[in-house]
Amino acid sequence: MLPELSENLGIHGLRRTNKVLIVDDDATTAAFLEAILEDMADTKIACSGEEALVKLHEEEFDVVLLDIEMPGMGGLSTCKAIKSSSDTSHVTVIVVTSHTGEDTELDALDLGATDFIVKPFAAKIVRARVRTHLLMQYQSRQLRLLSMLDGLTGVANRRCFDQRLEDECRRAKRSHTPLSLLIVDVDHFKKYNDEYGHLKGDECLKLIAGALESSIHRASDLVARIGGEEFAIILPETAADQLSVLAARVRTAISDLGLFHNKGIDRSVTISIGGASVDMSEQKIDGQELFHRADLMLYEAKAHGRNQVQID
Ligand code: GH3
Ligand code: MG
Ligand code: MG
Ligand code: MG
Repeated sequence: MLPELSENLGIHGLRRTNKVLIVDDDATTAAFLEAILEDMADTKIACSGEEALVKLHEEEFDVVLLDIEMPGMGGLSTCKAIKSSSDTSHVTVIVVTSHTGEDTELDALDLGATDFIVKPFAAKIVRARVRTHLLMQYQSRQLRLLSMLDGLTGVANRRCFDQRLEDECRRAKRSHTPLSLLIVDVDHFKKYNDEYGHLKGDECLKLIAGALESSIHRASDLVARIGGEEFAIILPETAADQLSVLAARVRTAISDLGLFHNKGIDRSVTISIGGASVDMSEQKIDGQELFHRADLMLYEAKAHGRNQVQID
């Protein structure tokens, strides 16, 4: 479940191959570095700082080997640009240069470079250093992923949900596309725990999370556990008229699980759903407002007897 989910959470490719960008205006040096690292990573070459920035925005890299002396945008300016953009600041920059002065090394480190290799270099040293940095990148991807996951159910957690909701609101405003949100609450879940015990309750929450995941199909949709027995589904590019159909499908997915609940509605586990959408005419709306609207609808669904959908 993790690798696919990591893509969905915007943490790309926990298991993908390591990727290194070699930036050097000297083709021979670049080709030599590529040969040295051939069995350790997928490598790409950029001949200038400008080309490097384009490639870094097109593709996810772990490590950049950056020459300092280049015509046009030099290595130090390139390093600064990489480190100051939120899209690329997590990439490890290793400066590779024939400048041996302490000042250059300090400048590079001050600008955010992690390591410094002096030309002419020994292949063994380059490999050892790159290997260490690739390992650290892998570990940091793994930690970022874990910090976004709910430990019990494996879906996204509240922190991830909050971030994604604000991101999607901004994106919806920029691109003039609609955005929808569903809030899901398990009905009479306290009674379920009382009847069957907390462990059975936990199992039930896992099954519900799985069914919610299976009931949505787009990679850009996000299912999150936002509280004890509450979940939410963020649906980008989904308008109000599509939302009731989707919400009905989600509700049915849970009843189709056929989980017996002696004190539940129709003696089974059911959910109530509140939903809301924003469209491009509502430029002022933010994530909190959208959440508030959906939450009011959830309250309505509960008040009208549970096991149903209410859309704003
Ligand atoms: P309603 O239909 O109004 O939503 O009733 P409810 O009983 O589902 O709602 P209430 O808010 O009264 O109770 C929520 C219950 O969810 C109480 C709590 O024991 C249970 N719960 C919350 N988190 C967990 C969890 O992680 N595991 C288990 N097993 N139960 C949990
Ligand atoms: Mg050069
Ligand atoms: Mg609740
Ligand atoms: Mg409940």
